Amino acid sequence: MRLLIMGPPGVGKGTQAVGIAAHYGIPAISTGDIFRANVKNQTPLGQEVSRIMAEGGYVPDEITNAIVADRLTEADAAEGWLLDGYPRTAGQVAALDDELARTGQAIDAVISLVADTDVLVERLLKRAELEGRADDNAETIRNRMVIYTEATDPLLATYRERGLLVEVDGIGSIDEVAGRITTALDAVRA
Ligand code: AMP
Repeated sequence: MRLLIMGPPGVGKGTQAVGIAAHYGIPAISTGDIFRANVKNQTPLGQEVSRIMAEGGYVPDEITNAIVADRLTEADAAEGWLLDGYPRTAGQVAALDDELARTGQAIDAVISLVADTDVLVERLLKRAELEGRADDNAETIRNRMVIYTEATDPLLATYRERGLLVEVDGIGSIDEVAGRITTALDAVRA
């Protein structure tokens, strides 16, 4: 299985990605996690992206594309993967297309987690209070939502046109949403 999971900030992509990847025995590859690990370890990459992330902006495509292309060559990704939080721009869609064409791979499905953005902003504000994440203050949250709507949401149409989009209601318990995703993916694979 080669899958993407997309959706607005706060919809629970990361949580669902881990569960779905485990279900299919493939690695969940989160660009956000990769960037956060680099920030935490104060690597050169981390130093380059920490301010962008704290402001809720997007890391430049050249950096992000290179990291994903590199990660996809690792042994655990040979038989499948789930990309969480990538692609997020038209340039990243094109770069992923090129990379997959080059390596003779194809995406099986794109999971789109759907939720009302007002509900998500509220959820993120609550999480910010509880966890104190640097990229979760009110201004950053709004910024992330605007950038998502402008740069990433339109990409769903691209995958819809390709017949790959699997839309799933993202509001519900973790298990409920996970059940919806696997049911929808099983229908695609049948
Ligand atoms: P996430 O955990 O997926 O919400 O990602 C956290 C942050 O990492 C984002 O707000 C961006 O600053 C950065 N990031 C993650 N994935 C990407 C991507 N595909 N393109 C650009 N920036 C990204």
